[in-house]
Parts: sequence; C-alpha cells; structure tokens
Amino acid sequence: MKKIIAIIGAMKEEITPILEYFKKYETISLGENTYYKLEYQNSIIIIAYSKIGKIHSALTCSTMILHFNANYVIFSGVAGGLREDLKVGDIILATSLCQYDVDITAFGHKLGFIPESKIYINTNESLNCIAKKVAKKQNINLKYGIIASGDSFVFDNAKKQWIIDNFNASAVEMEGASIAVVSSLCDIPFCIIRSISDSADNNANISFDEFLLESASRSAKFVISMVDEIVKE
Ligand code: SAH
Repeated sequence: MKKIIAIIGAMKEEITPILEYFKKYETISLGENTYYKLEYQNSIIIIAYSKIGKIHSALTCSTMILHFNANYVIFSGVAGGLREDLKVGDIILATSLCQYDVDITAFGHKLGFIPESKIYINTNESLNCIAKKVAKKQNINLKYGIIASGDSFVFDNAKKQWIIDNFNASAVEMEGASIAVVSSLCDIPFCIIRSISDSADNNANISFDEFLLESASRSAKFVISMVDEIVKE
C-alpha cells in the first residue's frame, strides 16, 4: 500500500519550515484550508495547517484521512510545558492525549470523559518508536508524556496546576486531542510532536511570541526526519 503521510500544524508558522524544506508541491483548497501535496520517495505527503483549536484541527484531520486517504498522521507544533524539566525548545512526544475542557461531571462522569470514548487516547507505538529512533540518531533528549488539549491558551499558574492535578499532563496545547480522537476513530496511526514555546504560566503569552518560530521549526525539523524514516521502512 502506498504510504500517504499527513503532516498537520495549527498555525502557518508551524508548517512553513516543512513547506520550505520540500519546496515543490501541488496546492489544493478544501473547506477553507489549503492542502499542500507532494510525492516523496514513492510516498505521498500532504501538509496543512488547520487554524487554532480542536474543531479546526478535527476538520483538517478528517479531511486528511477521509478525502486524501492519509494512512499516517503526524502533528507538528508548539505547546506549553507543564513539567519543571520541560524547557523552551524541548521536544515532547505525546504518549496519550486528553481533553481537559470536557466536563459532564454533573452526571457522575469523570472529568474529561465522554460516554463511548476514553479520557486518554494513546498515540501509535510504531510511530513513537520512529520518533525515539530519530531522537537517538540526532542526540535529542526527547521527552514523553500526556498532552492535554483544550480551546484556551493557558497563561495562568492556577489553571496550569489544575490541569496537572486533574490530568497528570506534561504539556498543554489546543489541537492534539482532536487529532487523537479523529485518527483513532478512523483507525489511522498518529503521533503528536510538540516543541515547547512557553510554560503555560503568567508569562506564557510573552514567551510564546518570542519562541514560536524557533520552537515551531525545531518540531518541523524533527517531523521531517521522522518522515524520512517512515518512507524508508
Ligand atoms: N498568537 C496566536 C495565538 C496562539 S494560540 C495568535 O494571536 O493568533 C497557541 C497555539 O500554540 C495553539 O495552537 C496551541 O496548540 C499552542 N500552544 C502553545 N502554548 C500553549 C499554551 N500555553 N496553552 C495552550 N496552547 C498553547
């Protein structure tokens, strides 16, 4: 089966380094998103940024899988670090994703739980192995952990602590969980790579603006190396 690899970012800045690397691609407009398609070593790569948030990224991921027939999904972008040891520029691989803003506890459900779904959705083991292999080859101290997603930019110490306490999350962002839900429901292997842009604390917006480009391009570079491994397999 031909490999069709979807690379998704949330913001333009997150995919620009990837487009600059591949240089030549076909441009397809769909659902007010632009999809960039190219042939690479007998495989097809489709790249897009979804716009921020879980709904936009769910649409882009669904389009990648159901329209473009992607059989791998990789997200590349930036995130807020929740753990002490996660510094700006570090790369984190999500072991699982959750939606910290889902709350139907009024009916006795656990925080983050939706009936017929799960609180935590695991990422794909083989793709994660490829990420670990890339990290090893490039001497990158790859971090792992739960990533929590929600439709807010977290820049508040109390909210940050609440997410850590309730979800044991290592990083926070706004799209990973929707990519996880869509990919897992469609039975497509996916993984989420994020480089830290801020610490989701009271200073996070300043840090984000300062480090977005640098961290986005670190993540992008890492994902390009993963693609090289995938197409070789
Ligand atoms: N500056 C942008 C908005 C960025 S929102 C603008 O004005 O348009 C933050 C984006 O980076 C989201 O896509 C999210 O996935 C990620 N992110 C990075 N740090 C985050 C944090 N502390 N909380 C939530 N999302 C964060």
